[in-house]
Amino acid sequence: MKILVINCGSSSLKYQLIDMENEDVLAKGLVERIGIEGSRIKHETTGKDKKVIETPMQDHKKALELVMDSLTNEEYGAIASLDEIGAVGHRVVHGGEDFADSVIIDEKVLKAIEDNVEIAPLHNPPNIMGIKACEKLLPNVKEVAVFDTAFHQTMPAKSYIYALPYEYYEKYKVRRYGFHGTSHKYITNRAADMLGKDVNEVNLITCHLGNGSSICAVENGKSKDTSMGFTPLEGLAMGTRSGDLDPAILPFIMEKENLDPEEINNVINKKSGVLGISGISSDFRDLESAAEEGNERAKLALDIFEKRVRGYIGNYMTQLDHVDAIVFTAGVGENSIEMRESICKDLKIFGIEVDKERNNVRGEEKVISSDNSKIKVLVIPTNEELMIARDTEELVEK
Ligand code: ADP
Repeated sequence: MKILVINCGSSSLKYQLIDMENEDVLAKGLVERIGIEGSRIKHETTGKDKKVIETPMQDHKKALELVMDSLTNEEYGAIASLDEIGAVGHRVVHGGEDFADSVIIDEKVLKAIEDNVEIAPLHNPPNIMGIKACEKLLPNVKEVAVFDTAFHQTMPAKSYIYALPYEYYEKYKVRRYGFHGTSHKYITNRAADMLGKDVNEVNLITCHLGNGSSICAVENGKSKDTSMGFTPLEGLAMGTRSGDLDPAILPFIMEKENLDPEEINNVINKKSGVLGISGISSDFRDLESAAEEGNERAKLALDIFEKRVRGYIGNYMTQLDHVDAIVFTAGVGENSIEMRESICKDLKIFGIEVDKERNNVRGEEKVISSDNSKIKVLVIPTNEELMIARDTEELVEK
């Protein structure tokens, strides 16, 4: 079966067409600047030249029409007709408490995703647009929703309830949900394979370190705690997100700088994190070069990032009765040899030891701990699209 995986953002759309027979990516692409001037699609069919088309796209439906045209284009397409698409898998950010697993989309499911817009106003609306557009363009094809939050629905109440008046949870669903679940789930499955263990018996600390970053304590293959919360802002210091803060800072700054709720939200989501600290960039490669050249604030940003990662690893060590492996994934986790080395060098107290030679790796599955290390350390490239495609195939074939 060929599965189209769709990930809609507010002004972007990423897609992959995957042949599930051998899990090969047949084509993939990115549509940018939807609804704004200069919209374009970058399409690549495996084994053919990349194609970039600039053309106005007023909405996600128009963008998806162009995706379908590119997929079936005689010259640079991947399939002869849209009939070859067996199912569509959508990344949906927020499933709230309604979804602990992926589901086939029907009216009831769509309504529940719409109801969760209240707690995910930035993320769910573009996902809904993508689902509705696909319904129109591929009316006979089943669509599946795969939620970022689903994997973390196994967290116990003591992990997800905030120390706020309990009625805010009851009235407004204010609780910790956790995100990047599709990635943490994929990594958990791969790590179990690499360790030769049943996934239901594996205990891990999975570190998804990218532009957005989160860490997950996995007990018997299930999420027990994770660093992101009500929104994808809590936890680590990220590219542009503050992560954990003393909440009293917010009203203080709002008053001093005369900011309204939307403006302060913008500061903590888009202007903070390693960008805010360094004043240079949210990109870890830029920060690593600047730090090497002696820029103190770039070094401080990297030190703060590293310290928080270690803090969460330490925290999760106390929540699991044993840990089979610590796993690094996503842009920074897969590629930054220096960051992995500095995070792990201060974990000797737990008997964790990374081997310098083995750690000299980017974007490849590998055990990087030394033979003496009490806990294995792994690098596993994440693959959220494949996870979405696998869930989609499983549900559609049931
Ligand atoms: P997203 O959260 O947007 O999916 P990614 O997982 O792609 O992000 O991670 C992007 C981050 O990974 C960027 O900050 C980038 O600098 C970092 N990164 C990518 N390659 C390297 C590398 N070789 N060394 C250090 N950081 C890297």
